[in-house]
Amino acid sequence: MKTAQINEIFDSIQGEGPYIGYRQLFIRFCGCNINCAYCDTEFKTGSNYTTEELLKKIKTFDLESIHSISLTGGEPLVHFEFLKEFLPRINKKIYLETNGTMEHALEEIIENIDIISMDFKIDSSSKIGDIFMRHEDFIKTARKYEKEIFAKIVFDEKIQDFEINESIRLAEKYKVPLILQPRMEGNNIAVSTEFIEKTMKKFTARYLDTRLIGQVHKFFNIR
Ligand code: SF4
Repeated sequence: MKTAQINEIFDSIQGEGPYIGYRQLFIRFCGCNINCAYCDTEFKTGSNYTTEELLKKIKTFDLESIHSISLTGGEPLVHFEFLKEFLPRINKKIYLETNGTMEHALEEIIENIDIISMDFKIDSSSKIGDIFMRHEDFIKTARKYEKEIFAKIVFDEKIQDFEINESIRLAEKYKVPLILQPRMEGNNIAVSTEFIEKTMKKFTARYLDTRLIGQVHKFFNIR
């Protein structure tokens, strides 16, 4: 039986993207395959669970009142072998939060995923280099299986025009809704209102399916 290291399991509200406000059960997996400069998530330590133990644990929550189970992290796809065993045994909608770089792992578990919330990682804010080719391979996999997918872009005032162009190119080609999310420092927005408006206009002038959505859970001071 496979095991996975899990940092925390909690019942809360989705605070980002188009499913904002829905109640979800969050399973935060330890470990990530990349290292973004703005990452403020605590995911390095946790407890090991077998699939049986995790199933038992999630049954202690009021699953009837929960819209979906969010697999988050870290990067949940690092644990695809565990998820392959675990997901077919759950009878709830599955929402995957991913950095959109592990298309082979996605393919292993995609049958059991309902909604994919991926990131477009832009180097100006995440400092991990240009990974749009990896994002493209990831989207192709999601589209091959006709899964719902949208992409979140965390940006600040260093965003470059080529990053905007490349984001729009991918979004248009694969019909992926875009969510612009200004970078936060703690509970404060790290981008000026003027710059946010300017950036939103640059996107919407060329790609209408773009939304500006902040991290709402931070305003309510809930996790
Ligand atoms: S992909 Fe997510 S969890 Fe991984 S380093 Fe970047 S922000 Fe942190």
